[in-house]
Amino acid sequence: MSDSNGFRRKPWCVDGGIPELEHRKYAKAYRESEDYAEGVHLYFGDVHKHSSLSPCAKVNPYNGTLAECYCHARTVAGTDFLAICDHAERMTEGQWSESMGLARETTVPGEFIAWPAVEWATPLYGHRNIYFRDYDVPLISGREITSPPKLWEHIRALGLDALTIPHHAARELSADMTRTDDELEPALEIFSGWGNEEYYGAPLQDTDRCFTRNFAVDTLLRGFHMGFVGGGDGHPAPPADSGITGIYAKDLTLPSLFEALRNRRTIATTGAKIRVDFHINGFPIGSVIRFNQHDINELFPLEIGVTVQGTDTIEQVDIVENGITVHTKTKPRARLDQMAYRWFRPSGPTDGVKRIGTCNNVSRFIYVRVKQRDGHMAWTSPIWLDFYYDE
Ligand SMILES: [Zn+2]
Ligand SMILES: [Zn+2]
Repeated sequence: MSDSNGFRRKPWCVDGGIPELEHRKYAKAYRESEDYAEGVHLYFGDVHKHSSLSPCAKVNPYNGTLAECYCHARTVAGTDFLAICDHAERMTEGQWSESMGLARETTVPGEFIAWPAVEWATPLYGHRNIYFRDYDVPLISGREITSPPKLWEHIRALGLDALTIPHHAARELSADMTRTDDELEPALEIFSGWGNEEYYGAPLQDTDRCFTRNFAVDTLLRGFHMGFVGGGDGHPAPPADSGITGIYAKDLTLPSLFEALRNRRTIATTGAKIRVDFHINGFPIGSVIRFNQHDINELFPLEIGVTVQGTDTIEQVDIVENGITVHTKTKPRARLDQMAYRWFRPSGPTDGVKRIGTCNNVSRFIYVRVKQRDGHMAWTSPIWLDFYYDE
């Protein structure tokens, strides 16, 4: 089993083949519901674009019509999918049917997916995009559904297959990040045309226009299980210009992309198609590994595998744990745009001595960050290690 372009073949593959879930004892002990064993492909697209249906087009004439956006995403940007998220509050029912109708028509499974989506916003709670699994769906607007909990309640009440993703939480019109929904909100938008929202002071960020909190790391430190996506939020920019999402999915169909997003099998980049994969003890990106006092000693040291296929020279690959960089690699071995390695993480601070029976119970999220020489960056969604007491 391998990706059509060879991404999963040597030399980039950490273990060879598709090992992610052959991983043995851990897979048994800590497995969550697993959809990953069948082999996946990495598909890229912009999850956040505005068309001329958004009135902001009047100030930014580059939005393009719905059809122009899809055409650009497919033929110029060479991406696999596009979610146009026009503002629900500023759209008529007629425009909504037009948008969904064209999305349905444009979608060709296996070639290009026009992902049905809309942007929901209120002045107080900020902006969240809604992604659907079907084209025959109602328009959901912040004028009637006035808070995030009401939004999730509404989605459930209508029995819709829909997921929400908040954006620009750390700047004006900030998304409310005090609450999320573990089932319906799988990710946050870490990068867009507004810049980098990883943490305050991160590269590619205009700190003058940011709050000092409410970044991705702040949100994850609340214990939320949210992966990362990138979307341009393109008002003045074409699709896939400043922020794209990579999704590890079984095939290029709307149901598969939707399921993969639901499981947080995503990476985010600043627009370049940087391919990053990473696993911990065989568990893929987006996994939540729960461990308790009985199996804690089996879990450590963590075996962390990283593979990167860059689009330019890779300058740095970081492993980030609970917001802190705990490991950095700067020298690819063979080719400058490729990196593959394994790193073993002990359970806690160590002076190099392996101590049996001192594994600690600190819960953590771990993700990988890539920086290229040309300034482009990429992030994987985290993998979580959640400790619980087994009574
Ligand atoms: Zn917005
Ligand atoms: Zn937007």
